[in-house]
Amino acid sequence: MVLSERCLRKQTSFRWSRVGDNLLQEFLNAGLAGGLPGKMENAPDHALGPAPALAPPAGSGGTIRLHPRPDGGPICPYCSVPMESRGWYMPGMRCLAELKCSSCSRDYYGDLPVGHGLYYPLLLERATGRVHNPTGVGFFASWLQESYAHRVGEAFALAVEQRRDIHRPVLLNALDPVYGHALTKLICAHHHLDLDPGLDLIVLVPRFLRWLVPANAAALWSVDLPADRLWEWSDGTAAEIRRRLEAWPEVELAATTPGILGRPIDPKRLTGLDPFPLDQWAQRLRERPTVTFWWREDRLWRGRRRWIHALWDRSLRRPHPSPGSKAWQTRRVRALAEALRVRFPRLDFGVVGFGQPRGLPAWVVDLRAEGAGEAAQAAWIERTARSHVVVGVLGSHMLLPSALAGSVVDLVPPAFLANQGDDLIIPPQPARQLLFRYRYLTADVSAITLAEVLAALLAKMPLALWNLGGDTAGLERIPQDPWAHSRVRAELVSKMRESTS
Ligand SMILES: [Zn+2]
Repeated sequence: MVLSERCLRKQTSFRWSRVGDNLLQEFLNAGLAGGLPGKMENAPDHALGPAPALAPPAGSGGTIRLHPRPDGGPICPYCSVPMESRGWYMPGMRCLAELKCSSCSRDYYGDLPVGHGLYYPLLLERATGRVHNPTGVGFFASWLQESYAHRVGEAFALAVEQRRDIHRPVLLNALDPVYGHALTKLICAHHHLDLDPGLDLIVLVPRFLRWLVPANAAALWSVDLPADRLWEWSDGTAAEIRRRLEAWPEVELAATTPGILGRPIDPKRLTGLDPFPLDQWAQRLRERPTVTFWWREDRLWRGRRRWIHALWDRSLRRPHPSPGSKAWQTRRVRALAEALRVRFPRLDFGVVGFGQPRGLPAWVVDLRAEGAGEAAQAAWIERTARSHVVVGVLGSHMLLPSALAGSVVDLVPPAFLANQGDDLIIPPQPARQLLFRYRYLTADVSAITLAEVLAALLAKMPLALWNLGGDTAGLERIPQDPWAHSRVRAELVSKMRESTS
């Protein structure tokens, strides 16, 4: 945390200096920055530059001025003088300032300090399309360069839903081609509404996340575009957004982060669903032990793969897993389900996620769907909220399940060993309970070993939570009731015995 904060301060001082710094301070003051993404910790020092004097941000709750023009400007990379901010431009996911260097007369677009722009602010020369990328970031720079080079005039389909009169408009742009980034930006909407209930939040969101927009947002603008096209640049969309925002003399832009912040998120407010009730673990285990596997076909639980699949997927550098690898995952999931069913005969084992429902026993609840819409995705999330355990390969698809399920087991492929924690939304709880409830295993774990881990979670959770809760000693109560602890423990053990017998 200390390192992240220091690095983020250094990073934000690069271009937007005091705007970014004040913004960060507001987030820190509000307790929002506990989980800052670690990626920027490796930002090279040459990213740092002089700090121009800039006006403070507009809002008190992590907002900056957007319309009629953002505050101050970054430094011209040729002339090393602060540029003039002349306006703003939003051709899709990108939130940009229109900048002019008075010395060399070059015109630029510059990322505003929201989303990845908070960590990797880039400059684009409008005449040449050249991107100035002092942080050396890859994906964020290539999206800018490629989208500008292939920009289109046609506007994306935008559905506008205004829920009430708007007096103090604040726009939050949650567009992003990466599901996890879009989701975590959208989650910031809750933080803004908590920090400043007086603002009228307009949430710009991909259609597939529309169902998660907070009910107290003032307006919802949803873009109907496949996720993998959300990085594109549309001048028509920029014109449409400008036309709509120009209805107000001033508009603020809500800060977003592309990673989960440390501030607690209420899963019920986020999804409309109650999380799994831990106090009913034993009772529900007696009725139907419920386990859900979250299926992905682009990132597989391979188990111990056959050499031929490894050869196909890695040595030959195929962009997608081989059909054999997918079939291998099906066999692993089937073996996992069968092994657990031996131990828990009333097991409700389900599979959710994008994919063709096939290859699993009829008793498995197979909710997989290809190109699933909002209804199917809501059904997947609803199932995870009543699951004792959700299992899946590490990825942003695990964010919402982790906020809702009783327990999570993440399978980590070798390429993602440094991403542990990125895909979890977890409630505040004693650290040792957390270690029990949220497990990371390498993705080469066998079905039998994974079944043993899941069985331990199912059979031991209430006792473990009691044992690891940190307040089981209750030393001061012992003189009055010396046998209270043994009674509570015996009750828990007896309950669990009933559930698993
Ligand atoms: Zn210049």
